[in-house]
Amino acid sequence: MKLLRHGPKGQEKPGIVDANGTVRDLSGKIDDIAGDVLSDAGLAQLTTIDIDSLPEVAAGARLGPCVGRVGKFICIGLNYSDHAAETGAEVPAEPVIFNKWTSAICGPNDDVEIPRGSQKTDWEVELGVVIGKGGRYIEEADAMSHVAGFCVVNDVSEREYQLERSGTWDKGKGCDTFGPLGPWFVTRDEIDDPQNLDMWLEVDGKRYQNGSTQTMVFQVPHLVAYLSRFMSLQPGDVISTGTPPGVGMGQNPKVFLKPGQTMRLGIEGLGEQQQRCVES
Ligand code: ZN
Repeated sequence: MKLLRHGPKGQEKPGIVDANGTVRDLSGKIDDIAGDVLSDAGLAQLTTIDIDSLPEVAAGARLGPCVGRVGKFICIGLNYSDHAAETGAEVPAEPVIFNKWTSAICGPNDDVEIPRGSQKTDWEVELGVVIGKGGRYIEEADAMSHVAGFCVVNDVSEREYQLERSGTWDKGKGCDTFGPLGPWFVTRDEIDDPQNLDMWLEVDGKRYQNGSTQTMVFQVPHLVAYLSRFMSLQPGDVISTGTPPGVGMGQNPKVFLKPGQTMRLGIEGLGEQQQRCVES
């Protein structure tokens, strides 16, 4: 299933994509794409609904972030060997963990606001993992049963704030609108192999990132198990699993986003996003 949230900012309703690609409204059936709905039982319940009987959502309606009530937005850094190389960093011995604040979350096609004074706003297409079943000390062999599904994430990053302003990376990662999620959340049964998905990102039509989740260093089951040693994972948590090469910081000379530019990005089977960059 492809589940989504549609409507104005802060008032999103749940929806589902039907077999013809039409968005249908689910608000008569569930309150949100969040919490218990993301459990195996909750998702199984949705498969019993006659999708074609649901009201159609007008074409062109705004899509919100594809998961609601995200409790934690956890990111993995330097998780593609070739991306680590372009940034001049070593592949870490253990996963690098950092946070995006949940206030950064926005719809897949919402404007991305370049923060005031920013000179180094950058892009990162990433595979997002949505937790469906919570847990602590999760075994790697059991990890995928805790995953509800996947979505596209743009881990928008301000490199000066991230790397030159002292402290952790979080300063440059969690600015408002730095976390587009969607267009939809795809349940894990629809993705045969999350470690074999093509992913790409363009700015104003120029392709910068062209990768595959095949080159991920620490793979999804390992990341879920690893994170659960340091925190309990909860339904609706989103893990953004790192980016392949081709970020702006990795260009020679470096390239950063300017107001008026447009990012387009996508992952095989998970859909596409498009964001216009605007001044904050
Ligand atoms: Zn990232």
